[in-house]
Amino acid sequence: MLSMMMMTSQKIVAIILASGESSRLNLSTKKQYLKMLGGTVLSCAVKPFLKALSLSELIITIPQNENDSFAKNALFCDNEISQYISAVNVSFVKGGSTRKESVYLALNAIKSNADIVLIHDAARPFVSEKIIVEVAKKTLEKGSAAPCIVPSDTQKLVAKDGTITTHLEREHTRIIQTPQGFSFKEIKSAHQKAHLDKINYTDDTEIYAKYIGKVYTVEGSVQNKKITYKEDLQMKENRIGIGYDLHRLVKGRPLIIGGVTLPSEKGCEAHSDGDALLHAITDALLGASSLSDIGTLFPDTEPEWKDASSKDLLKFAWEKVLEQGYNIVNIDCVIKLESPKFIPYRESVISSIAQILSIEENKIFVKAKTGEKLGDVGSGNAIEVWCTCLLAKH
Ligand code: MG
Repeated sequence: MLSMMMMTSQKIVAIILASGESSRLNLSTKKQYLKMLGGTVLSCAVKPFLKALSLSELIITIPQNENDSFAKNALFCDNEISQYISAVNVSFVKGGSTRKESVYLALNAIKSNADIVLIHDAARPFVSEKIIVEVAKKTLEKGSAAPCIVPSDTQKLVAKDGTITTHLEREHTRIIQTPQGFSFKEIKSAHQKAHLDKINYTDDTEIYAKYIGKVYTVEGSVQNKKITYKEDLQMKENRIGIGYDLHRLVKGRPLIIGGVTLPSEKGCEAHSDGDALLHAITDALLGASSLSDIGTLFPDTEPEWKDASSKDLLKFAWEKVLEQGYNIVNIDCVIKLESPKFIPYRESVISSIAQILSIEENKIFVKAKTGEKLGDVGSGNAIEVWCTCLLAKH
């Protein structure tokens, strides 16, 4: 716990805004209730606050048309929450039709005599304890604080017709995140005024700046991402796969490994070119994406695949995996082969695989072992290959 001794006497309240309707996600379940890391998006957004600070109150806003059972389930289904929440006074408060209204209602629901309040979007479940502590510290010191990051892309202001009106100086532009921290009395008074002015503000820093004063910033993080589109959730999905192949080695056949022919008296006995390495990679990719396996996707009873090269099979399988939205993070392989020595051919094998998959060579590695004269590999009668791969949704 990154708890701060200096804060033990201060009353800190966290408001988690979970009253949004997730319209942009087009999902049947609201985004704050989606499953994530042993809990939900909501529980993951709340947890770091409970771990980082001794909160006196936690207010969670819920959609207007819902009772609190959905949010309660989404919070308490996470076993870790119960470890930290017992000392905290938790309330579920119906939000309004806008973000501004929801914050206003949450501020009015605070029962304790709070010193500062931290307002956070439930849609930012990746917030770190460090950011929460930094925001709380700065808010206690200055009365306001918001985490921000320097945008990687240049920012412009545009008119309604899409033309650029202002070229902003990059060194002065920031992306503002949450939690945003404020002196409770000040933000409550600012929101009371904003409630009457009928203007739709984008966030609380704007309301505070209009009615109270300067908003200070602390360093945010690119990881503190807001889930807005389906892709934001998919970004987090990594999948591993494993592939294996074994071929008998016989005289008079070429020994093809990863699309490269190695000088050898013996080669793989197979209907196809018998490229065990490409077969193992194909199976690892198909397995990681739960699509199929090499035997099912390319049955040797089908004339279409009868004389297909292993390169073509791998290319075809990889296209299927790409269609699912995956990218290769890396591929790692082990070849077990008695002779010839593999190391001199490693670079050309890696380069060949990289070409087949159209990926960078540094995402692929291939190692080789001998059978130490033991077993079928050791006697030079077989080749065995293992492959693992990691895929990520792009
Ligand atoms: Mg095979």
